[in-house]
Amino acid sequence: MEHIYVSGPSITEKEIKYVTDAVTNAWYGNANIFNKRFEEAFAAYHGMKFAVALPSCTAAIHLALLALDVHEGDEVIVPELTWIASSAPISYVGATPIFADVDAKTWCLSAESFEQCITPRTKAVITVDLYGNIPDMDAIRTIAKQHGIAIIEDAAEAVGASYKGCKAGSLGDIGVFSFHGSKTLTTGEGGMLITNDDALYERVVLYRDHGRRPGDKMFWNHEVGYKYKMSSLQAALGLAQLERIDELVERKREIFSHYAAQLSGVSGITLNYEASDTKNAYWMVTAILDSDFGLDKEMLSVAMAKRNIDTRPFFYPLSSIPAYSDTPEAQGTIDRNPVSYRISPYGINLPCGMDMTEEKIKYVCDSLKECLNLQ
Ligand SMILES: *Cc1c(COP(=O)(O)O)cnc(C)c1O
Repeated sequence: MEHIYVSGPSITEKEIKYVTDAVTNAWYGNANIFNKRFEEAFAAYHGMKFAVALPSCTAAIHLALLALDVHEGDEVIVPELTWIASSAPISYVGATPIFADVDAKTWCLSAESFEQCITPRTKAVITVDLYGNIPDMDAIRTIAKQHGIAIIEDAAEAVGASYKGCKAGSLGDIGVFSFHGSKTLTTGEGGMLITNDDALYERVVLYRDHGRRPGDKMFWNHEVGYKYKMSSLQAALGLAQLERIDELVERKREIFSHYAAQLSGVSGITLNYEASDTKNAYWMVTAILDSDFGLDKEMLSVAMAKRNIDTRPFFYPLSSIPAYSDTPEAQGTIDRNPVSYRISPYGINLPCGMDMTEEKIKYVCDSLKECLNLQ
């Protein structure tokens, strides 16, 4: 079998046409047309007032925290199991990340753990739509409202997912997305921030462009800000991908359903969960192994690599990795966040790029069963 990659996009003639159009025509008076079209279409798809195109989701979270005036002395709650991009911007603004546990089923922020982590210093929570799933947002929103805590929804992995009929990213005060090459909708590198709040939007565009307000006198900056803009070539690629969003999400769901057909009857393997009120976008097909197999994610990854199959380990608990493990906020988390510490060692992401065929999926599943001595 040829080499099987974990993730990768679907690029068609449409994407090539739009990017060619941008590189040919999006200059002079037209320099901004693709950014404008991409932002407007993205906002409309999510039923939101504002969308701001950015160079990455990391930049989007940074701007979200700045817009919410999160600063030194504040605490921001974030789930243990996520990519460090969800939490790193908390340090950029001088605030402290507080690591909360995840729910055993959804693998997303546990509402109970979130509530237990709240202190008088808590300013915001960053919920993460892990691997395309969505946490119990009704419970999280009720708790956040009681305590006056702002919600940033990190929907980097969940474009096209929905919860009770609302799109991922539209469930908090600010939603953020990533268009990294591994994500369902890609611009190579890129991100987006969405919100319905006029005041937050104004602060986001101010900090995105070196402290300038749209329409300001030239070179008359109000504050020291950042330079977080998306290029028109990326916006053209993103627009083409967005016009295919239903197809892309359907493809992800189809890939998952092939895996489920092969693996759901196998005892000791748990795949991504989908609640009845949620549409999971299945960015990453993920399997949690029973510890009785005696194989952790790293051993399994080596065994799969021998069969030409790339995998990724489930995220390590943030409080366990060197970037945080020595900080005061990372102490005591093994006891406080037992679900994260129990799931992570036995979780593995399986190949689910847009190029996966039914035949390749069968090969991956057969190989997995072999590695677990099930065949
Ligand atoms: C990919 C990802 C990000 C970061 O996106 P970038 O565009 O690379 O900055 C943030 N959060 C989560 C959950 C992600 O998976």
